[in-house]
Amino acid sequence: MMQAVSSHSERSVHGRLGSEGDLAAPIAPADAVLNLAAFYDPHLTARYVVQPELRDVIALCSTGVVLVSEGYVQNVETQNALTLIRAHWRDYRHMQLVPYQVILDLGGDRVETREDPSAMVNWARQILADAAAGHVSDIHLVMDTAGRRGTLLMRFYGDLREVRQTKLHEAEELASVIYGVMAEEGEGHYNPAAPQKARIGNANGHLPGELHGVRIQSMPLLGGSMMVLRLLPVDVGIVGASLEDRLRALGYEGGQCQSIGELIAFSSGVTVISGPTGSGKSTTLAAILKSIAERQAHRNILTLEDPPEYRIESVRQIPVQGNDWGGYIEDVMRLDPDIVMVGEVRSEAGALGTLQAANTGHLVLTTVHANSAWKILARLEDLCPRPESRALLFDHTVVRGLAAQRLVQRICPQCAVPLAEREEMIPESEWIRLREILGAQRLARARWRGMGCLACNAAGHPLAGLAGRTVVAEVVTTTRELMQIARTEGVRAAEQAWRSQAGVITIGRHWLMKFANGEIEYASRGGLDLVLEEEVGIPSGRTAWLP
Ligand SMILES: [Zn+2]
Repeated sequence: MMQAVSSHSERSVHGRLGSEGDLAAPIAPADAVLNLAAFYDPHLTARYVVQPELRDVIALCSTGVVLVSEGYVQNVETQNALTLIRAHWRDYRHMQLVPYQVILDLGGDRVETREDPSAMVNWARQILADAAAGHVSDIHLVMDTAGRRGTLLMRFYGDLREVRQTKLHEAEELASVIYGVMAEEGEGHYNPAAPQKARIGNANGHLPGELHGVRIQSMPLLGGSMMVLRLLPVDVGIVGASLEDRLRALGYEGGQCQSIGELIAFSSGVTVISGPTGSGKSTTLAAILKSIAERQAHRNILTLEDPPEYRIESVRQIPVQGNDWGGYIEDVMRLDPDIVMVGEVRSEAGALGTLQAANTGHLVLTTVHANSAWKILARLEDLCPRPESRALLFDHTVVRGLAAQRLVQRICPQCAVPLAEREEMIPESEWIRLREILGAQRLARARWRGMGCLACNAAGHPLAGLAGRTVVAEVVTTTRELMQIARTEGVRAAEQAWRSQAGVITIGRHWLMKFANGEIEYASRGGLDLVLEEEVGIPSGRTAWLP
């Protein structure tokens, strides 16, 4: 009968059934426990809905089929309700998973209360306009099906803050309108049970003037789902802020900001930033370019990107199509540039083109996939092993700067708790090691992520106790001596020599500084477990750390 579930077949079932008699004398003994009011409601005929909070998650059909929204079947509440239904509903035949929208479309009184789509579009536009005006980088819409509520969060200058709570269905309809109506590159309908991506462009007038696009990513979560909107600003950063302010806002230390400032003050040479995808490299590069563009309007700044992530005023941004980065770099050299940003070096032609540009009177910025600052050299050496390229690679006037960065979750200062309060979370041997490295006094300032508060996210929220992300990084200014070691004894030896210099902040030490200041928590490594094990002697991969 209900072989294929759809709102159509459900409607036909609805038509055939006339009265409560179809479910006469159901589940008498446990009704109070179940609170399945719908079993007794004479107005509900074909569809028997469980308790109100699960109304758009579970629908009981008079055919004996229980429809369950596939995205929510793992929830404890859903599972409890299903157990009781199976045990007590006389007519129970089987359970069937259906897309979320199917049950939503069934929803008798839910249909009446659903928002007008154009009103939802207006609301979404207003949210985007407010966010753009407030220098928000990301909007998070979190659907908590267990708690039956939606949460709207915005990341302001790296801090994720809750903006408002909504009813669950409002958040879901908002997500549905953003994905299904406003986005241009989505695939079909919004489905909270699947990861989806899309993008809002400025073709339909949905975006405020400050934005040139919005990137959308949704993801099912345990107990709900979330949608994150990355706002792509026409401009990046605080207008008029100094390079140091911009980089400090990202998480760089004062000395590192100064080094980067010196590196970009040269009129030639390349500075390379490394880090995995999502480590914030393009944000750092955009901050640097923006700062150069604001102060040196007379310079011809060109970027090669695939695709441009930020639009930066007075920077000429070239979207690269295809893989011929080497060819693009050659062409760009004929556009009389002063400063060139090459989005990413990943081929021999790209690497060689970048080194040659850096060697011929251009300031070049680029990124490479490598695990540490010094490994950039090893990676570039792999890409271009020929002697003439090696000569450029190990010339400190060509490759001037090497940086590596990661993003680590920052804990909310309002609700963080002293590390000692959760002493049991860290094995004894690691406490001893931490005391050795930091000393008891500094260790006393370290903190553990709290349970969540008004300043960050409420308890139980996946991001409770967290407040954005911060950069941990290392910045190397190359020298003739270090490059000579790299060329003759290998990159590893050069890295050791660099580390042994006084006052050097390696990425592991930077992590440790932030941990000791109570800014990040012990469990948040930003993928640096091996580095920390090697540099600091903190072992990696202990599940005991996880809350
Ligand atoms: Zn908090």
